[in-house]
Amino acid sequence: MTSVDYKLLNTDGTARRGQLQFARGTVETPAFMPVGTAGTVKSVTPEEVRASGAEILLGNTFHLLLKPGMEVIAAHGGLHKFMNWSGPILTDSGGFQVFSLAKLRKITEQGVTFRSPIDGSKIFLGPEEALDVQHTLGSDVVMVLDECTGYPATFEHAQQSMQRSMRWAERCKRAHKGKHGALFGIVQGGMHLQLREQSLQDLINIGFDGYAMGGLSVGEPKDEMLKVLSYMGPKLPANAPHYLMGVGLPQDLVEGSRFGIDMFDCVLPTRNARNGWLYTPNGIVKIRNATHRTDTDPVDKSCECYTCKNYSRGYLCHLYRSHEMLGARLCTIHNLHYFQKLMQQIRQSIEDCRFMTFRKEFYDGIGVEPPDVA
Ligand SMILES: [Zn+2]
Repeated sequence: MTSVDYKLLNTDGTARRGQLQFARGTVETPAFMPVGTAGTVKSVTPEEVRASGAEILLGNTFHLLLKPGMEVIAAHGGLHKFMNWSGPILTDSGGFQVFSLAKLRKITEQGVTFRSPIDGSKIFLGPEEALDVQHTLGSDVVMVLDECTGYPATFEHAQQSMQRSMRWAERCKRAHKGKHGALFGIVQGGMHLQLREQSLQDLINIGFDGYAMGGLSVGEPKDEMLKVLSYMGPKLPANAPHYLMGVGLPQDLVEGSRFGIDMFDCVLPTRNARNGWLYTPNGIVKIRNATHRTDTDPVDKSCECYTCKNYSRGYLCHLYRSHEMLGARLCTIHNLHYFQKLMQQIRQSIEDCRFMTFRKEFYDGIGVEPPDVA
């Protein structure tokens, strides 16, 4: 029945530097959570993930429910033991994947019925079922089941969708009583600020251990996302953690932190690593490009990861072009390290009350104009 304590260490404007204190360990915030979709951060071991600086992982309920299935996870005593990660784990509710991946789904007030993409069997996921799965996983942060409103959505559609999510949030709160883990509510409402505010107020009335912003980065223009983020971020309850779901370009981590977000997750560093896209303080390096073939420098001279300390761009370019497995592993190690280093710099700049100066240096480094948000 442990939960999470949020400890605020410093603020700089609306940015905040803090700690999430779990029974399984402390997480320095703002924090980036690598995604372990199928019970693994693809191609790297938990030790390698830990060495990158990550203190908390995200697990996907939908994928784990389908494969290997809850009887396998339960037989191992939960996801931590199954995948050999002893730190905190946040799990999503499965809703996002059901809505985005599952074909033949039917949504009612009770929940969502869908066909398994693996064997075609019929599966029902309601608020209670989504929590039941996360309890079996042993999650340290349990997310409510919500309906992720797509983009674009009319006011009426976004309102109905949000209101259903709020009714589901209430059912999740009841289903979580006495169970392990913190329970986070999710603010919805599309790009409509009035609905977003209503959604947040409804969640505060129900009472959660943390508050997430859902339904962003769903295909809307960047300025729409920033409008919602800059308006809602500072309104999230000060004494609880704030989580921006599924948003993870380096620029988004900087902007999210600016508006008081404490937690982020995204598949970008790992997925792009497998595509040979490497993040550096000077922008993206596409390692398959012929220009790197004879380059004996590391990906990033300032990077202290295992890959940059030991291998050249030319070697990585060769591995990538030869479809060698080690290429994906080494690229993943570097990207995970870059994302954690960025978060560490964000945290330090908030501590030193120089966040906006850091922000400018960051954009100068990657050669991108900072977004103009009031
Ligand atoms: Zn590196």
